[in-house]
Amino acid sequence: MSEKTRAIIVRRYGGPEVLKWQEIKLPQLGPTDVLVHHTAVGLNFIDVYHRTGLYPLDLPLTPGVDGAGIVEAVGSDVDDLGTGDRVAYTGNGPPGSYSERRILPRTRLARLPDAIDDKTAAAIMLKGCTVEYLVRRTFPISAGDVVLLHAAAGGVGLIASQWLSALGARVIGTVGSEEKGELAQANGCDEVILYRVQDVAARVREITGGRGVDVVYDSVGAATFEASIGSLRPRGMMVTFGNASGPVPPMSPLLLSQNGSLFLTRPVLAHHYADPTEAANGIAALFDMVTSGQVTPHIGQEYPLPDVADAHRDLENRQTVGSTVLVT
Ligand code: NDP
Repeated sequence: MSEKTRAIIVRRYGGPEVLKWQEIKLPQLGPTDVLVHHTAVGLNFIDVYHRTGLYPLDLPLTPGVDGAGIVEAVGSDVDDLGTGDRVAYTGNGPPGSYSERRILPRTRLARLPDAIDDKTAAAIMLKGCTVEYLVRRTFPISAGDVVLLHAAAGGVGLIASQWLSALGARVIGTVGSEEKGELAQANGCDEVILYRVQDVAARVREITGGRGVDVVYDSVGAATFEASIGSLRPRGMMVTFGNASGPVPPMSPLLLSQNGSLFLTRPVLAHHYADPTEAANGIAALFDMVTSGQVTPHIGQEYPLPDVADAHRDLENRQTVGSTVLVT
């Protein structure tokens, strides 16, 4: 087994230019570890937060929080995976998937069903598991619930649109352009709001006959927080789970009472996928949604992994739709 691989290294926080493709040494394979040869890696907005230092990590670092590939070697105590098996992962644990090969603990890996190819897996692992916990655990959706979903044509957004629609929710999606609006509607949104030009809270009141929505899933953060709060029905649930436009500034709890005794949560995947049984159940639910055809991942664009800086630029400039896959 070669001890070297190639990976993206970040030595200082900064713009996409800090993402450097380099040769690195692989650590030693431990008894409960697996060496995975990545075939496809997911691009996720959290990779931008890691690159810029919004979510600080020790440097140097290799970003990337999900991926798919083939088992190249297993540690002496691993008896339920072998060379050539197809696997994928996300969830708890340090980043590092922007690499050709990587050593991971066996506990982080899920065996891929034949019906899910490697690129599809890379397109869904973090994004789909996020949707899984948001719609089943953070605010368990019932048929007939009315939902406001921001960035509905994005990676998380299209999977959420499809999953929410499959659960029988009425989905109001916000999008940055008319083309994205068409895509969101083709993937399960009942209504779309062009949030760069329309008053979101006012449109939501019109669409819902003045009632407001039961839940808002808001990954955009600073730019949409106020409109999200203003879109909820009394005792509705505000789920702020991302910062694509920047983090939400500090706020007073009085805002929640003034807008109707609202609930507010700021969830992250790690707390929903820390327990191995919960994680396995979450991944199984995601795979079921995909293999049953209720969620059909949309890969909007692909980039060679060494060119991931271009992918970051496009993601941050709102040029991508659906999931982005990095191929090795
Ligand atoms: P997306 O594909 O959704 O890309 C981000 C989208 O956000 C853009 O395409 C754009 O869509 C919209 N957007 C709005 N304002 C801005 C802005 N100022 N700059 C850039 N984009 C903006 O990314 P992902 O699917 O990878 O992630 C979506 C969000 O979900 C991220 O915020 C991410 O951090 C969060 N997330 C949270 C997790 C958690 O557990 N808490 C786990 C996984 C993801 P448009 O042009 O339509 O406005």
